[in-house]
Amino acid sequence: MNNASFKQHIKSRTHKDFIENYKKYYKEVDEAQDTIKQLRTELELLKRKNTSLKNQNMKLLEIIEDMNDEDNFEDCL
Ligand SMILES: [Zn+2]
Repeated sequence: MNNASFKQHIKSRTHKDFIENYKKYYKEVDEAQDTIKQLRTELELLKRKNTSLKNQNMKLLEIIEDMNDEDNFEDCL
């Protein structure tokens, strides 16, 4: 393609549509990447919270176990 026909081509509807779609495509890719980053951060925080809740749950189960332990049982008599 020579210079003159390239200049002609870039004014064409086909080329303008291509550029528009290209921009739109990269805008969507950028947005998708932002979403992924955001979700990864959220996932990391939820993993930490889950670990913390598991530990808390384990401690509470131990307390319940101790409370149910016969040796610790105090009758009202
Ligand atoms: Zn083109």
